[in-house]
Amino acid sequence: MIQILDGLKEQEKIRHTLLEKVRTLDVKPTLAIILIGNHAPSLIYVARKKEFAASVGIETKLFHLDTTVSLDYCLTLIQQLNQDPAIHGILLQLPVPQTLDSHQLIQAVDPIKDVDGLHPLNAGKLMQQQAGLYPCTPQGCLHLIHCWKQNLSGLVAVVVGRSNLVGRPIATLLTHENVTVIQAHSHTKNLKEITRLGDVLVVAVGKPKFITKDFVKDGACVIDVGISKDTEERTVGDVDFESVKNVASAISPVPGGVGPMTISYLMMNLMKACCLQLNLVLTLSK
Ligand code: NAP
Repeated sequence: MIQILDGLKEQEKIRHTLLEKVRTLDVKPTLAIILIGNHAPSLIYVARKKEFAASVGIETKLFHLDTTVSLDYCLTLIQQLNQDPAIHGILLQLPVPQTLDSHQLIQAVDPIKDVDGLHPLNAGKLMQQQAGLYPCTPQGCLHLIHCWKQNLSGLVAVVVGRSNLVGRPIATLLTHENVTVIQAHSHTKNLKEITRLGDVLVVAVGKPKFITKDFVKDGACVIDVGISKDTEERTVGDVDFESVKNVASAISPVPGGVGPMTISYLMMNLMKACCLQLNLVLTLSK
């Protein structure tokens, strides 16, 4: 029988772990969220992040800026948050309006407060397997893969997508687990033949129901990162769940799979960042 990799159930476990840890701190861990504009999905994601944070005792401070805001204003705000000892993490909700340079904004965040793990210093630390703040969605994907199998050594994984946010870091995390990783992208030829090599298949493309059962190896673990709307405005992933569930041995659903794990690992990163700033050793059992 197929194993459903239930992100909501795992999120609940992480919620309890975080709640316990927050209670032991003398300070209120605080996350600053910078949201620019009114991009509809971003408004929903920010609301979910605030709600989950509140449920574990993490405070959030929302800086909701107009789309016309200047780069200088954003950089000054980030500098102030970097210097504020009462702020332990800074989240820049992506995407930002095209008038702003997201790379410049990400690089302005102090790496020790970079809870999204997107600063080049943290990306480099991930690459070199040094302790740092790693991107949240890839950590959530790895958590779900471990629900399927703890020891991944020697397996083959195919990651479809190579963004800095998801594809590249999940490929790196899997490599650190001694998995042989193939990274596919929009220029990959014969994609179906490649994806069928994967004992693990992670899909982060952003195309609704792009992966059907003929892309999937029998018994594979399939992680669906994609979030899109279908023609009836229902949330769907990159994987055609109904078709793929007949060949995979484990699959993460959309919604209720990777999404809740991303929020969970954002708050885990916030706790890590907070403890680093307070010179505390963080012991989080998942
Ligand atoms: P992105 O930056 O647009 O990257 C998409 C990747 O897919 C690119 O590397 C692109 O290749 C590749 N691609 C596009 N068409 C392809 C094709 N026909 N065959 C193979 N590869 C193809 O997107 P992203 O930020 O990684 O996000 C991907 C999806 O995950 C989106 O739906 C996003 O909403 C979702 N997401 C979900 C969460 C969550 O928490 N669940 C978090 C982040 C993102 P090239 O590099 O060659 O262009």
